This record gives sequence, structure tokens and C-alpha cells, in this order.
Amino acid sequence: CGIVGYVGTRDGVPIVLEGLQRLEYRGYDSAGIAVVGGGKSNGLKLHKAKGRIRDLQSSLPKRLKGAPTIGHTRWATHGAPNDVNAHPHVDFSGRFAIVHNGIIENAPQIKERLAAEGIETTSETDTELVAHLIGLAAREHDDPMAAVRAALRRVEGAYGLAIVDAEHPDRVIVARLGSPIVLGLGDREMYVASDVGAIVRHTKQVVHLEDGEIAQLEPDGFTTQTLDARPVQKVSELVDLDA
Ligand code: GLU
Repeated sequence: CGIVGYVGTRDGVPIVLEGLQRLEYRGYDSAGIAVVGGGKSNGLKLHKAKGRIRDLQSSLPKRLKGAPTIGHTRWATHGAPNDVNAHPHVDFSGRFAIVHNGIIENAPQIKERLAAEGIETTSETDTELVAHLIGLAAREHDDPMAAVRAALRRVEGAYGLAIVDAEHPDRVIVARLGSPIVLGLGDREMYVASDVGAIVRHTKQVVHLEDGEIAQLEPDGFTTQTLDARPVQKVSELVDLDA
């Protein structure tokens, strides 16, 4: 339902939670957040729960600090609203965490494919399947962006996605097909959201992803390409708040 992400030198957790709160009006049943950088180790840290963002915030573990950070408010389509089904979802290798807006249409086929690889799921969501596909693709692709592209070529349906990679704690990868994703350009920091309202207090300089595009955000900038790896030159625009 709602996606917010941050990469930069500040602690992304309060930025992402505040952004998610701005998307609250859209409705949701659970929320969650993942961080890969900051602190003593660069490991993947996760906190998610059924219920309000406020509750998530008040129960945040102290160690959950840093950036890159991604967060989500979920409006369940596959699986009951509960703690396990809340996003972010992590792949079998524990390396990638993803948040997802939309619906994966070929979930049953993906599930079969994963089962053939011996990968079992822990949630009932369509989203978790995509996390595992990325983990599988990463066995063959060193570049995480290439792994995400390869995984998404196997996915049918609609998605806005934000992904963090514990092995590259300097970036957020995002993708769009039928569900909006907007990048916000800051001063040595980058934002991402499913709705510009979540990030507009931080920057007015934005880039809208088009369907079939994938982007890699780092503090100093971003690159965009298509799912078949053709580079795309994006032009940023100024948000017109009166429009
Ligand atoms: N289909 C996903 C789920 O049920 C995402 C739903 C959403 O857009 O929030 O978890």
C-alpha cells in the first residue's frame, strides 16, 4: 500500500516512519521497516507488526538505526493481516529485504519453482516469493541490480518495489510496474516513495519511474534502466504543490 525509503548519512528510521505516517490516510493493516547500514555491523535489521505505525514506533528496538532504510504500510491481498505477513520480507539467504505494493499474478507458479529449489516460505504473501526469486538470481548475478532484473523477468502482475541488500549497505533498488514509485533527490541523500506526499518535506526535486523501469539509489545519485538493462536517462522535475 505505502512505500518509503531513504539512503544517505542520516538515520533513515525516523524519516521513513514519518513518511509512512503521511500515507496513513490510504489505510493499512500492518507496517514494517528494514535497515541494512549503520551501527556496528551492516547486517539486516527488521521490525514489523500488525497494527499502527505509532505502535511500531513505540516498540522499535534501539539497535534499529541507520540507512539504507525501507518501510511499508500493508493492505493485505495475499494472506491475513498479521505480524508474519507484514513487510519487509527477507529472502532465504537473509541478504535481501523487500517491500511491495501490488499483486503478483503468477504466485502459484513461482511457489512451485521455489519448492523445486527446496525453498519454503514462511508467510502467505505473494511478496515473499519475489524476495526468494531475487535471492536465487543472486547466485548467478554478482550485481544486485542484475539479480533484481533477472528475478522480475519471472514475475507477472503489478508492483512497486523497494529492496535493500545486506551485502551492499550503500544503496536501495526500486522497480515499478503498474504501481507508482517516485524518487526524491536530496543533498547527498536520496528518497523514494509510492506517493510524493511522503517525501516532499525533504525535497521538491523528484523523478517519476515509468512502468518497466528499475533504479539504483545511492547517496550521491541514481541510475535507471529497463528490465532488459537498457540505460534510461531520467529528467527530474520540481514538485508543484499547487497542482
Ligand atoms: N500483495 C502484497 C501483500 O498482500 C502487497 C499488498 C499491498 O499493496 O500493501 O502483502
